[in-house]
Amino acid sequence: MYKMVRVAVIDYELCHPDKCGIPCIRFCPINKTKPYKAIEISSEKKGKPIIYEDKCIACGICIKKCPFKAIRIVNLPEEIEENLIHRYAQNGFKLYGLPVPIKGKIVGVLGPNGAGKTTAMKILSGGIIPNLGDYTSAPSIDRVLDKFRGTIFYDYFKKLYAKELKVVHKIQYIELIPSYIRKGTVREILDKVDERKMKKDVIEFLNMELMLDKDVSILSGGELQKLAIAVALLRDGNIYIFDEPSSYLDLKERLNMAITLRELLPMDSYIFVVDHDLMLLDYLADQIVITYGVPGVYGIFSKVYSTNSGIDYYLNGYLPSENMKIRDEAVSFKFHETREEFTYIEKTGEVLCSWSDLVKKLDNFVLTVEHGEVHRGEVIGIVGPNAIGKTTFIRILVGELTPDEGFTTSTALKLSYKPQYLKRKIDSCITVEECLKDINREALNEDHWLYQEVIKRLGVDRLFKKEIENLSGGELQKFYVAQTLIRDADIYLLDEPSSHIDVEDQLSVARAIKKIARLRKAAIFVVDHNFLLIDYAVDRLMTFIGIPTKKGYGKSPTTVGKAFNELLKELGLTVRRDKESGRPRINKPGSYLDRYQRELGMFFYY
Ligand code: ADP
Ligand code: SF4
Ligand code: SF4
Repeated sequence: MYKMVRVAVIDYELCHPDKCGIPCIRFCPINKTKPYKAIEISSEKKGKPIIYEDKCIACGICIKKCPFKAIRIVNLPEEIEENLIHRYAQNGFKLYGLPVPIKGKIVGVLGPNGAGKTTAMKILSGGIIPNLGDYTSAPSIDRVLDKFRGTIFYDYFKKLYAKELKVVHKIQYIELIPSYIRKGTVREILDKVDERKMKKDVIEFLNMELMLDKDVSILSGGELQKLAIAVALLRDGNIYIFDEPSSYLDLKERLNMAITLRELLPMDSYIFVVDHDLMLLDYLADQIVITYGVPGVYGIFSKVYSTNSGIDYYLNGYLPSENMKIRDEAVSFKFHETREEFTYIEKTGEVLCSWSDLVKKLDNFVLTVEHGEVHRGEVIGIVGPNAIGKTTFIRILVGELTPDEGFTTSTALKLSYKPQYLKRKIDSCITVEECLKDINREALNEDHWLYQEVIKRLGVDRLFKKEIENLSGGELQKFYVAQTLIRDADIYLLDEPSSHIDVEDQLSVARAIKKIARLRKAAIFVVDHNFLLIDYAVDRLMTFIGIPTKKGYGKSPTTVGKAFNELLKELGLTVRRDKESGRPRINKPGSYLDRYQRELGMFFYY
C-alpha cells in the first residue's frame, strides 16, 4: 500500500465566507470530534479558511458543502514529493518536475491549462525562484542548486542565476502589446530590437512586408502575433520561450511560423514552445513534454518523449514511461468515411436555408460565394485566412446584409455570435453567473439540458463566482462559447473557439457544438484555424480563398476531406492521416510522402 500525501487547494477568488454561512468549517467531522482543527478561518487569508493537510482526512464533506466549489482535495503517492518544485502558498497549487531543457532542440510543451506550464516557464526563465514547496521562507538559489546537483538542471540554473543565460519570452497574451508599446510602427519596433541583425530575413520569412508601416495600435490579432514572434527572433538570447505562438494565425501563417522558428532560431540555445495546436507542435517540435494532474490543484511534468510518440500518448491518455493514465478516454480521429455524422445530413435532410451564388461589395472588399444550403442540426466548418469575408457571408445568411447579386431563402433568422476578439468588460454584469443569467436563466438550472450539455461540459459551472475581468484566456473563451450556445437561435457562428483553450477543452467545445446543433435543430458555423478541432467537430466544410481585405471567394459546403484538399492545394501543403491514430499530420515539404501526394493530387490524404 502506497503512503499518500494530501493536497488541499482553496481557490480564494471563489471563496466568499460572507455569503455562504461557512459550512466547510461547521460540518468538518474533525473539527466536531477532535481537540484540533482540520479547517479554520485564518487572519492571514483575510477571514477565509485554511485547511491543515496533515489533519484533514479527505472525507470530502467541505468540498460538497461549499456552494462556490472553492475547495479541492486530492491524495497523491508520497514518493512524488521528492519532485516537488514549487508551491505558491498554503493551500495553493503544487508543481512537480520541470520540462527538461535540451540545447539545440525545440521542446514542445503540451498539457491542459492550469497544470503549471506558465509556472514552469517562469521558473526556467528565472522569473520565479522555486521554493521547493517551502512557501514560508524566502526562496534560495543555493537550495535550488543543491536540489538539482548531479542533474541536467544544475548547470542550467547555475548559469541562469549567474546571468550567463539571457531569456527571450514571446508572451501568451499578445492583445496586451499595444497597451505597453502604445506608439510606433512595426518597422520602428523591429529596428529597435534587431540585436541579431536578421530583420530582413525575419520580415521575409513571416511575410510582414505589408504591415511594416502600420502603427502598433491598429494591428489585427494575427499581425500582433507575427510582430511578437519577430521581436523574439531578433533578440539575442540563450533561452527562447514561445507561449502560444499559433493564436490568431491562420493555417498557412502557422506553418510559416513553424518554418521560420526552425530556420532562424539560434540552434545552440534552449527553446520551449507551449501550444495547444497539436498539428503545429507535431511539425515544429523535436521533443515533447506533457503536463498532467488536476488543473488548479497540482501539475506534473512527464519525461521527454519523441514528438510523434508524445502526441500519440497524450491523445491516448496514457504515458508509458510513467505508467500513468492521464485521461479516462482516448481521443481518436475517425476517417471521415466511417463517421456517423457523414450520413447525418442524408438521414435528416431538412434544409434550414439555402442561397444562390452571391456577390456583396463593401467599400474596397468584394465577396463572392457559391450557392449552397445548410440543414437543421448541421455543423459547418469554415476555413480560410482572416479578413476574407467569412463573417460577411453569415451576416448575409441571417439577413443583416443584403447581397448585391443573388438571394437567400432565409427570412430574419436569429443569430447567436461569438466574435474572435473577446471583451473583458461587459457593462451590465460582473460575474460569470450574472452574465449567463442575463442571457438564459434556465440554462443555469442543474436539471436543464443546457446546463448538462454546455455549462457543465465546458466546466463553466466552476467559474460562476469569478469576475469576467479576472478570467484566464482559456476561461474567458469557454465563458463566451457557453454564452453563445445557451442563447436561443437558428444560426450560430463561433469565430475561433479554439483560441487559448487546451486540447481537452477543444474536444468538449466540439461535443457541445454538435449537441446543440442536433438538439436545437439549428445550424452552427465554426470558423477556426485549428485543423484538429474542425476535423473533430464538423459535418461539412466551406473553404474561403482570395486576397484578405480585397476579395474573398467562398466555395459551396462539401465533405471535410474534399474541402481540406482544396484548401491545402491552395496553400501548397500536403497533410496525411496518421495510420494508427487517424490524426492529421503535415508532411515535411519535399519528403517522399509530400511528393507522392502532390503527384496524386491528394493534398489531404484521408
Ligand atoms: P498553465 O500555464 O499550465 O495554464 P499555470 O502555471 O498558469 O498553468 O497555473 C497553475 C496553477 O497555479 C493555477 O491554478 C494558477 O491559478 C496557480 N497560480 C499561478 N500563479 C499563481 C500565483 N502567483 N499565486 C498563486 N497561485 C498561482
Ligand atoms: Fe474536514 Fe478535510 Fe473532511 Fe474537509 S475534507 S471536511 S477539511 S476532514
Ligand atoms: Fe464558504 Fe466555500 Fe469559502 Fe468555505 S470554502 S468559506 S464554504 S465559500
